[in-house]
Amino acid sequence: MALIVQKYGGSSLADAAKIRDVARRIASAEERGDKVVVVTSAMGETTDGLISLAYQVSDRPDERELDSLLSTGEIVSSTLLAMALKSLGYEAISLSGAQAGIRTDTAHSRARIRGVVPDRVIKELEAGKIVIVAGFQGLTEEKDIATLGRGGSDITAVALAAGLGAERCEIYTDVDGIYTADPHLVPEARKLDQIGYEEMMELACYGARVMHPRAVELSELYGIPILVASSFSEKPGTLVHGGIAMEVRNKVRGIAQDLNVAKVTILGVPDRPGIATTIFEPLARANVNVDTIVQNASVERITDLTFTVAKSDLDKAIAVVEPVVEAIGARGCVSDANLGKMSIVGAGMQSTPGYASRMFRVLYDQGINIELITTSEIRITCIIDEARVGDAVRALHHAFDLGKGN
Ligand code: ASP
Ligand code: MG
Repeated sequence: MALIVQKYGGSSLADAAKIRDVARRIASAEERGDKVVVVTSAMGETTDGLISLAYQVSDRPDERELDSLLSTGEIVSSTLLAMALKSLGYEAISLSGAQAGIRTDTAHSRARIRGVVPDRVIKELEAGKIVIVAGFQGLTEEKDIATLGRGGSDITAVALAAGLGAERCEIYTDVDGIYTADPHLVPEARKLDQIGYEEMMELACYGARVMHPRAVELSELYGIPILVASSFSEKPGTLVHGGIAMEVRNKVRGIAQDLNVAKVTILGVPDRPGIATTIFEPLARANVNVDTIVQNASVERITDLTFTVAKSDLDKAIAVVEPVVEAIGARGCVSDANLGKMSIVGAGMQSTPGYASRMFRVLYDQGINIELITTSEIRITCIIDEARVGDAVRALHHAFDLGKGN
């Protein structure tokens, strides 16, 4: 008898009929003899609806109240799911994040889990109940409700699995696993049977939206295998784990893309100590999340400095940077809001030369200009015109033979 944590996403719980379907899936896991703890997301687009309500009553909703409001989305889905299970004849109980022992810091709307104290969950499991936990939320030291950031119920699920010593965590969503590329962009994209934590982490951080990057990080830290699968089918899904064979024939595992990229370039920046701090400290204070940063080698102690931000942060970034440009005596600042990035990811790439040059050749053959390049040991990312991202991903998928099994 294994203890498993199952998480169901908002689209899997979007209406009453879907909640009843999910209840039947949970019941069949119980029938197989597993002990099940379930984590829910809010039904459908509930969270967006609640955020919009908050902004209808206030230009700047109070962050404590906003978190309490948003946490209700998951309370609704978890309570309904417990009722549905009971009506099928199963013992079930719903618990809020606070009741389930999810302890967080005080950073409202982006709280981090400090620890899990799952006594109540264990007590209810021992009493033979299926425990349904409202995802995305926890309790601060001051006993206020805090939420974990958008998409945060994945994080709740993995944290609970770690806190309970569960055998695995299953994430049920509206796609049937992790694909070699977005099937909407690439019809030949193939579902992977398995993928390593590091590869999953890079794909999740660089645009594959199936799993929250912080959930992947936690699962690697605690060594919890994760099954990503569809709640609408019985297909086997993708197992994310640490035990992937080192030598794999096809060394690019997947391609991710992200269309939410804007670029700011500061021209003619004097090359002297302290300049980067002068530019990036005010951006951090203004809460602008800077992604890629590239500084050129200087010619006669003058250089250009480019960084990228989310499109929605571009205006704010420019407003912060313009006075700094004056203050440091740079020549000016230009921006481009129509960019996207795509990344090839594969653990096998780190020991084999030639992947970057092959990638650049494929883009050149497509007539695509590369604006910026960044790499990690197992990832190469190119930032390009957003209108060409689809062509780039398709061409790379083909060139690296990702449609064929490995
Ligand atoms: N309901 C929250 C959101 O939409 C959390 C989640 O779905 O994981 O962001
Ligand atoms: Mg959601």
